[in-house]
Amino acid sequence: MRAEILSIGDELLRGEIVDTNKSFLSERLLHLDVEARFHSTVADDRADITEALLRAVARADIVLVSGGLGPTRDDLTIEVLAETFGRKLVLDGAVLTELRAFFARFGREMAAINEKQAWFPEGAEVLANPIGTAPGTLLEVERKDREAALIFCMPGVPRELHRMMDEQVMPRIVQKRRAIAFVRATLLRTFGIGESNLDERLRELALPPGVELGFRTQFPDNHVRAVARAASLEEADEKLRAAVAAIRERLGVLVYGNGEETLEAVVVRRLDEGGRTLATAESCTGGMIAELVTAVPGSSAVFRGGVVAYANEAKTALLGVPEAWLAEHGAVSDPVARAMAEGARARFGTDYALATTGIAGPTGGTADKPVGLLYIALATADGTESRELFFAFDRERNRRLGAQVALDWVRRHLLGEALDLPRVSTSLPGARSEAKPSEGHRSGTGTRA
Ligand code: ATP
Ligand code: MG
Repeated sequence: MRAEILSIGDELLRGEIVDTNKSFLSERLLHLDVEARFHSTVADDRADITEALLRAVARADIVLVSGGLGPTRDDLTIEVLAETFGRKLVLDGAVLTELRAFFARFGREMAAINEKQAWFPEGAEVLANPIGTAPGTLLEVERKDREAALIFCMPGVPRELHRMMDEQVMPRIVQKRRAIAFVRATLLRTFGIGESNLDERLRELALPPGVELGFRTQFPDNHVRAVARAASLEEADEKLRAAVAAIRERLGVLVYGNGEETLEAVVVRRLDEGGRTLATAESCTGGMIAELVTAVPGSSAVFRGGVVAYANEAKTALLGVPEAWLAEHGAVSDPVARAMAEGARARFGTDYALATTGIAGPTGGTADKPVGLLYIALATADGTESRELFFAFDRERNRRLGAQVALDWVRRHLLGEALDLPRVSTSLPGARSEAKPSEGHRSGTGTRA
C-alpha cells in the first residue's frame, strides 16, 4: 500500500515555514507499515490542487492532505476536492451547530465566513477536530480495477493535525485496510563506532523474525534504527524489546541512549542521578561543551560553570595554568589540558571538570602540532585522565567531535568504563592515527599521511 502526503499552502513554497507536518505524517504511517512514497506541495491555487489530487489518487492508495481548511478565501481544499471528484458540497447541520458552540465558548459570535467550514463533499465522512474550528474530511474515491483511494484532509495547524491523525485518521486506515501489519520502531544512539563497524558487529546477531535494522549517521553519532513488524502492536512491541536487548548486549557502552535523548541529556541525567557536578575549561571548543550541557533542561542541578580560556593569559589568570608550562609545552599540550581541568575543578568545586585544547583548523597547524590535534582532560576525585587525539575533519566538526568525546568521557567514567573509544582513537606523538567515528560524512575529511 502506497501513501502520498500533499501539503497545501503558499507559505510552504515560499520557504516561510518548514513543512513539519510531512515528517510527522510519514513517521505515523510507518507505525502502520504504510510507506509514504510521495511528498508533494502545491500553492493555494485551484488548478494546482486539482492536478495534485488527481495525480495522488493515480499513484497512491492513501492520500494525506494538510492545510487549506480554514474559513478564508485562500482556503480551497474542500471546495476543490468536491469539484475534482464531481461531488456536490452539502451542509452538515451537526457540524454547523458545533461550530456555533465553539465560538460561543469563547464568548464570540460566529462570523458568516466560518459557515464555510460546515460544508463537505457529498458522501464524505467528517473527522472531528476538538481543538479547532476546521473539521477534517475523509473522501473515498472509486478507481478502475483497484480499490478506492482514501483521501484524508486535515488542518494545517500542526497541533490540530497531530491530534486528528492519531485519533481519527490512523484508526480509519487500520479499519478500512485489514491487511496492515503493525510496526514499532526505535532509535539506538551510539557514539565512538563507525557505521560500517556497527553493521559488521550486528550482522551475526540473531534477531526475532520481522525485525530489521537500519544505520544512520548523524554527526558525530551513528544511530541504529530497529523496526519490528507483527500482526499486532503487542507482538511488535515484544519483538522490538527483544531486539533492543540483544543489540545493547552486543554493543555495550557504545550505546549511550535511545529515542530522542542526546548524549548531553544522558550525561546531565546520569550526573544528577549520581549527585555529581561538572565544570568546564574550554579552549578550542570555545564553550561548546557548556552550551550543549546548559541546553538540557535541569542542567543547573549538575553544571556549576565553565571558562572559555582562549589566550595563554586567560589560561593562567582564570585556571592557574603555570606560565612556565605554556612556555615549555605550548598551549596545545597534554600538561596544559590537565592543568586546565584541575584548575576548573578546584575553582568551581565540582566532582568532574573537562578541559579541551587543540588546533581546530583550517590554519594554525605546524609540523609538530598539526591541524586536528586535540588534548582532552577529565579531572575527577580519583585523579586526572587525558589523551592526545587527532581528528581529520573541518574546523566545525573537529570542535564538535572534541566536545562529544569529552562529554562521553563523563558518561563512561560514571559507568566505570574505560575512556578509550574504539574508533576515536588516541595517538602517540610520531604515531598519530586518525579518528573517524561517522563514516557517512566522508567529504573533506582527507586522510593524513
Ligand atoms: P486555518 O484554519 O488556521 O486557516 P488551515 O487548515 O487553513 O488552518 P493553513 O492556513 O494552511 O491551515 O495553515 C495554518 C497554519 O498552520 C500556518 O500558518 C502554519 O503556521 C501552519 N502550517 C500549515 N501547514 C503546515 C505544514 N505543512 N507544516 C507545518 N506547519 C504548517
Ligand atoms: Mg488557512
